[in-house]
Amino acid sequence: MFHSARLKLTTWYLFIIMSVSLAFSLVIYNLVGYEMARFARSQRIRIEHRLSDEILILSAPDLELILAVKRRFLLTLGVVNLTIFSMSACLSYFLAGRTLQPIQEMLEQQKRFVSDSSHELRTPLTALKTSLEVGLRDKKLKLADARLLINDSLEEVNKLHQLSDQLLKLNRHQHSLQFATIPLDEIVQESIKRITQIAKSHQITIHYRPADYNIFGDQRSLTELFIILLDNAIKYSPKSSTVSLDVHKKDRHLIVSVTDQGVGIDEASLPHIFDRFYRADCSRCKTRVDGYGLGLSIAKTIAAAHHAQISVKSVINHGSVFSVRFQI
Ligand code: ADP
Repeated sequence: MFHSARLKLTTWYLFIIMSVSLAFSLVIYNLVGYEMARFARSQRIRIEHRLSDEILILSAPDLELILAVKRRFLLTLGVVNLTIFSMSACLSYFLAGRTLQPIQEMLEQQKRFVSDSSHELRTPLTALKTSLEVGLRDKKLKLADARLLINDSLEEVNKLHQLSDQLLKLNRHQHSLQFATIPLDEIVQESIKRITQIAKSHQITIHYRPADYNIFGDQRSLTELFIILLDNAIKYSPKSSTVSLDVHKKDRHLIVSVTDQGVGIDEASLPHIFDRFYRADCSRCKTRVDGYGLGLSIAKTIAAAHHAQISVKSVINHGSVFSVRFQI
């Protein structure tokens, strides 16, 4: 598909270049012909004045000469246009490839995203389908077992709900953003408020010293970004530890960092943790940690929409620091 699109685009580029070149050549050819005729006429008049008898002898080769020069000029223009044609064909093909490359990459990304999403959706759906079918086929199913089955199914449905929510977020944070100047403290306080319950259930204390800075951004998605970082910090930390959120200014940047004392991330996983659906192996985690590997890729999308950079530093079994660097 891309090859034919590239060829079509090349043809269009070539058509435009050759139309301009041919029109230009035609104008030059006519102009040169006209100028030569005018020059010959003025020459003839000048000679007529001096040698009135030789006028007939001179005018004939005069015309022939003009025609010969015009023919040679036409030939030169033809060669020039042919050269332009072959050179622009190569250039157009190259440029068409360059023009289509980002579209091709975007389509590839979308394809990968759709196939990854369907894969992620398929697993809990298959589990749900199988357990419901088995339950339905069991003629001696007791009420207590049926309740258990419904409970398990509800858990799977909740996971699916969470996944579809995250998929929607990924899309929403790329578009429909409303930018305004907002106090950063307001966003951070809101994020902490919304994560407090989870922190309490993990017996984790969140440290934050209010800072008086304004930021230009979309309040909803920035809140979402800090919630993701805080939620991960809590998820991957041992009970009774501390998570701190720090805001400071450096040069022309505002840096928000979330530090935890958790399991840390191994070096091999570090380059991939912002990829969609990537989940590092967490054998060091004390309990099973649920997730789809979408949180950090949503965080990265939000940061990119704010022209901010998100980075991580981590030491195994000591903790991680996620920093978002905003330009101010
Ligand atoms: P999820 O947490 O749902 O798996 P994320 O995209 O939020 O997905 O994170 C991707 C991976 O990065 C996680 O699976 C985890 O291995 C690692 N990770 C993220 N945050 C932390 C953290 N604070 N401490 C340790 N590992 C982390």
